[in-house]
Amino acid sequence: MKVAIWYHNEDIRIKDAPTPRPGPKEMLVKVKSCGICGSDIVEWYRLPRAPVVQGHELGGEVVEAGESVDTYKIGDRVFIAPKVPCMQCDYCKNGHYPVCSNVKERLPGGFAEYILVPEPIVVTGTYLLPHSVSYDQSTFIEPLACVVRAQKIGGMIKNQTVLVIGCGMSGLLHVKMAKAKNCKVIATDINRKRLEFARQIGADGIMDAGQNIAERLLAEHKKKADVVLLCTSALSAVEQAWTCVDKGGGIIFFAVPGPDKTVTVPINNFWTKEIRIFTSYYCGPPDIVEAINLLESGIIRVEDMITHRLPLSDIQKGFQLVLGGQESIKVIIKPHKSEDA
Ligand SMILES: [Zn+2]
Ligand SMILES: [Zn+2]
Repeated sequence: MKVAIWYHNEDIRIKDAPTPRPGPKEMLVKVKSCGICGSDIVEWYRLPRAPVVQGHELGGEVVEAGESVDTYKIGDRVFIAPKVPCMQCDYCKNGHYPVCSNVKERLPGGFAEYILVPEPIVVTGTYLLPHSVSYDQSTFIEPLACVVRAQKIGGMIKNQTVLVIGCGMSGLLHVKMAKAKNCKVIATDINRKRLEFARQIGADGIMDAGQNIAERLLAEHKKKADVVLLCTSALSAVEQAWTCVDKGGGIIFFAVPGPDKTVTVPINNFWTKEIRIFTSYYCGPPDIVEAINLLESGIIRVEDMITHRLPLSDIQKGFQLVLGGQESIKVIIKPHKSEDA
């Protein structure tokens, strides 16, 4: 089978690898669609594990199941989580699934024609796709689950004023999710096209990130934001977040500056205004279930975000599109030719 091995963003090599054969408790899944995630192109985050086959937003079809696998059968359409928490440790019990102490197995990357699903992920990390959720749509399950969780952690509730800083794929999903909660959503970015798209999908206001957003919020919406969602790693965005949050409000770090960057928190100011700071990293099983339900019910529609579908051989181009961020929103890799969506 073909796999795409990522060395860094400018060096992704298509290689032949033996198609794995599942053991008694494993499954072989044919990758139908795999999304390129904004986090896939973050080199400080990914390089420590390189060279590596990336791709964790995937939907596929079960083509072989080990003799002891009775929960799935050949032909099943599935979403597979890249790793599974134990649900037993103290972290899991408190809902901090991403920091589970017992994550042992990771799914191999989805930028490949086939993927071997290890036993623990067969048992608790595989989800049947509802009929109405296509393979292409299934590539949004993981990112949407992360969005669901971040908004939960930040205590976001309906009718709040929400500022989304950064309108990449995740920021736009946050816009959709916040609109589903009937929030008033203002989106900022430096990219005009993305801002226009944010408006198309329901943002009540769009603002160029180069402007004084806090002043504009006060002038046009009479108040600052109850919730600021940071969906970019730019340091300037963090500074902006500090000034845009209302008294009693919260700032959710969905993306963060790189490890070599230091952020100074105006904590005295925040203390007197009861402003809170949250971080949210990845997602957990309940969020995945919720994301699937949101897609199945049509509460969150994602088709309009898919800008590119590329064969595995064009993965380098796909990464460049995501890196450039100009014309793409969601780029999906289709490892098999002329396959259904
Ligand atoms: Zn992702
Ligand atoms: Zn755990």
